[in-house]
Amino acid sequence: MAQIGFIGLGIMGKPMARNLLKAGHSLVVYDLAPAAVAELVQAGAKAAGSCQEVASQSEVVVTMLPDGPDVEAAVLGPKGVLEGAAKGSVVVDMSSISPVSAQKVGAGCAAKGVEFLDAPVSGGEPKAIEGTLAIMVGGDQATFERVLPILQKMGASVTLTGPVGAGNVTKLANQIMVACNIAAMGEALVLATRAGLDPEVVFNAVKGGLAGSNVLNAKAPMVISRNFQPGFRIGLHQKDLRNALLAAESMKVSLPFTSLVQQMLMALMNDGKANLDHSAIVTFLEEMAGVEIKKAAAAKA
Ligand code: NAD
Repeated sequence: MAQIGFIGLGIMGKPMARNLLKAGHSLVVYDLAPAAVAELVQAGAKAAGSCQEVASQSEVVVTMLPDGPDVEAAVLGPKGVLEGAAKGSVVVDMSSISPVSAQKVGAGCAAKGVEFLDAPVSGGEPKAIEGTLAIMVGGDQATFERVLPILQKMGASVTLTGPVGAGNVTKLANQIMVACNIAAMGEALVLATRAGLDPEVVFNAVKGGLAGSNVLNAKAPMVISRNFQPGFRIGLHQKDLRNALLAAESMKVSLPFTSLVQQMLMALMNDGKANLDHSAIVTFLEEMAGVEIKKAAAAKA
């Protein structure tokens, strides 16, 4: 069993690290938040004092951090992974970052003889807990095969999509589909609620038809019960759509729906909602219509 380092023990990283422990790997962990490290130590991991210290004790280092600048700091920065990593070790960044940033980190690793994969995930906290994430990987085939057994402890599907950066291009495509789906669901349920219908009845009526989706099944019940506990934070989804728009601009591709939803996310952040679940995108549409999506009896009050 490989000795694994894990950096970034937030909503996603914590359960992913726990699944590696459960599979029998020995784990050395680090996070800026000491409480997160303490929880993993309780579960059997060893604590390290920096990213460098994690890497000096690991054959494979997994990072699960908010955005590209965080990954660049953790891997390329002072006391970072590359100051501790041995030649031939592997860094697997599972954060959702811009493909350009992934390529920069990959080049920094290659210069030190360290292998690199970008391997962002989809499925959110529930699938991170179950170990059934969808993992989309960029990098070379040999490195992919080397770490595949480790990735399979965290995900139900693990797909090599192309060279370094391709994992994050795939993830951006995923994030566009999820955000636009939530916004469309919000508009649809605002209309139904304004018409006097119970949104739960509408949800149950359509979920088996063509409009049914994993997004609808996961997010409509949260909206109807007014539970916006994250989950996946508004602030992180804004970051993903911003990265999608930057990538699109560099390729001269126009993304009209993505731009629109990214602006909604920005407005919600300015409204103090950055840490709510992304299902709260619907609150932007509710405010425009003066309607709250909730069960019929309460809606009349
Ligand atoms: P989070 O904010 O809950 O966790 C991030 C963790 O990283 C925090 O514990 C923070 O203290 C730590 N951190 C930040 N900078 C650090 C550094 N330099 N060194 C060590 N630790 C550092 O975020 P999350 O929801 O777990 O998301 C992580 C990544 O996964 C993001 O890129 C996100 O877009 C992606 N993602 C999240 C979800 C989800 O549903 N939450 C789903 C798929 C993908």
